[in-house]
Amino acid sequence: MAEVIIKDVRKVFDGDVVAVTDMNLTVEDREFVVLVGPSGCGKSTLLRMVAGLEDVTEGEIFIDGRLVNDVPPKDRDIAMVFQNYALYPHMSVYENMAFGLRLRKYPKEEIDERVRDAADILGIEKLLDRRPKALSGGQRQRVAVGRAIVRKPRVFLFDEPLSNLDAKLRVQMRTEISKLHERLSATMIYVTHDQVEAMTMGTRIMVMKDGLSQQVADPLAIYHEPVNQFVAGFIGSPAMNFIEGTLKRDSGSVSFESQELSAGLPDSVARRIPEGFSADVVLGIRPEDIYEADQAARLESAASIRAHVDVVEPMGNEIFLYVTLGGSDIVARIDVRTPPVVNSDIDLAVDLTSVHLFDRGTGASLLFGDRS
Ligand code: ATP
Repeated sequence: MAEVIIKDVRKVFDGDVVAVTDMNLTVEDREFVVLVGPSGCGKSTLLRMVAGLEDVTEGEIFIDGRLVNDVPPKDRDIAMVFQNYALYPHMSVYENMAFGLRLRKYPKEEIDERVRDAADILGIEKLLDRRPKALSGGQRQRVAVGRAIVRKPRVFLFDEPLSNLDAKLRVQMRTEISKLHERLSATMIYVTHDQVEAMTMGTRIMVMKDGLSQQVADPLAIYHEPVNQFVAGFIGSPAMNFIEGTLKRDSGSVSFESQELSAGLPDSVARRIPEGFSADVVLGIRPEDIYEADQAARLESAASIRAHVDVVEPMGNEIFLYVTLGGSDIVARIDVRTPPVVNSDIDLAVDLTSVHLFDRGTGASLLFGDRS
């Protein structure tokens, strides 16, 4: 397997569409890195440059120490699995998986061994004689993955491979690809716009926006220590709540003040705020860090709020509560058996030890910096 180094890479289409810029990323040998971001952020373009399907406008890409900018895709020792699996309809599953090896003139016995090994890993041994049209979406996706495995590539590249599957199959294939990563000890780069896939599959995640990397870190660091408001809002479902306000420092203590919520911040938060901080901030609070008021006593530092209940979504194990607080819409994930009544007022407690603070101008976190 192999390390992939992306160095100062930039991609410009048609002279003026900047798809990727200032891109630096080292994917270690056997690592599973997920590129995640909204539509159009440049993640597919970056992956396609690693694959050799797009030229690099500026910068360098190395695979296993070799500069590959001018190496054609077939000589890069990578395999790519796409969203549309593009199986050959007139060929059997076996033939589809064997095709690439035949083109490369592998001996028949070796092709047979590799196809059967891959089929065994993916649990599709019984489907080898079928045509793609006789397969379910999930089975087709497995064949597409099988076609990549038989090549025994140095690097696997996945471009939204699960987005054509229904929700249940997506979850199943997600765990299968994670297991495959363990089993093959392979270097994998995986593109998705689905933050749940990113959180559950990646050993590291790169969050992208507008062609730029926003943060590269392991999933929990991305979730708990987002370096800016974009990352904080993109990762997590329901998304983090944001409230605009101002910070005031007064003889060592720091307070947040807004129409919705005013409170002194606990020392664990205040001491992370740099000297000379911007006073205009956005406070971020995750839905699970808001509680019913009677839980406040359990919290080390809490702010009470009174909100208006707009929508109640019982999820079984918890309730998503959509409330209005001053001028803001807020979501809370509450663990109660009796759902609050719609159109009533409710007292809630915000866990102040878990708040985030972002500069209102730049969006940068006042509490966490990118250590990647
Ligand atoms: P999605 O999730 O929708 O696939 P993405 O994050 O993968 O989005 P890219 O497909 O990499 O985004 O596109 C990044 C930017 O580059 C977009 O603005 C897109 O319109 C542009 N782009 C992509 N391919 C081309 C092309 N062949 N010619 C011109 N512009 C392109």
